[in-house]
Amino acid sequence: MIVDSHTHTAYSKHATGSVDDVVRSAIAAGVDVLTITDHAPFHVDSDNRLLERELDAYLDDIRRARAEHAGRIRILTGLEVDYMSDARAHAERLLANLDLDFVIGSIHYLMVGGTRVNVWDLARLNEPAVLDHFFLALEESVGSGLFDAIGHPDALLRSVPAFYWHTRFLPLADLFRRHDVSYELNASGLRKSSWDPVTRREHHGSWSYPSREALPQLLACGATFTVGSDAHTPDSVGSGLRDMLAELVPLGLHAICYYEGRQRVEVRLDPRTSWGSA
Ligand SMILES: [Zn+2]
Ligand SMILES: [Zn+2]
Repeated sequence: MIVDSHTHTAYSKHATGSVDDVVRSAIAAGVDVLTITDHAPFHVDSDNRLLERELDAYLDDIRRARAEHAGRIRILTGLEVDYMSDARAHAERLLANLDLDFVIGSIHYLMVGGTRVNVWDLARLNEPAVLDHFFLALEESVGSGLFDAIGHPDALLRSVPAFYWHTRFLPLADLFRRHDVSYELNASGLRKSSWDPVTRREHHGSWSYPSREALPQLLACGATFTVGSDAHTPDSVGSGLRDMLAELVPLGLHAICYYEGRQRVEVRLDPRTSWGSA
């Protein structure tokens, strides 16, 4: 059983493919449970995501695909919602009016000293003030009561050395279980570039996230995990999941989950194949 709980379509504007294109590609890739999680309307970078007036059409497209492909794949409705401290009311209002299966909360932007730092501004992520803001936002987002899972909570590992990230993350590991929020194992870290803070160069081909260092601690705390490709093109739906799980199952990961009607559904992983047993 293959689960992909983080995918984007052209509704995110910087991603490509209709809902139907993404679903067909997921079926071809052998995905059994697919959640579409386009970027929710937000005031930052507002043209690069769903617009509020598109939400009905977006959800209709997903429900239509669900009906059309019933029996071949399970299709669920989701959103990836931006978390920023001062935009909590926006997220509350947005989610109060929507009937979704799954809500990811992600930190993409940090306001540091009056300027915006994006989590893909790799050369800035090791600045102490940026890290302080990030870990505060992470703590707040987990405790906000708004989200089922936190998306790519370890994406800063593209730039921040693992030992340092882990030192800062460790005190927060227990919060995921305490607030009943899943930790997303996001496979896009297997295909994204990394930044070496010493040479100040970007390089490709190394696994930056999800964190292999944090996994034992999260498991010991009883955390639950979602998995997603974070595909922004139809052909990357499901990508990286097999390699990621093959690496994480031997480290002790024995179950993942997905969400249906905002309720967790557990999927046990087969230790021999690293895939979910249906
Ligand atoms: Zn994201
Ligand atoms: Zn995403």
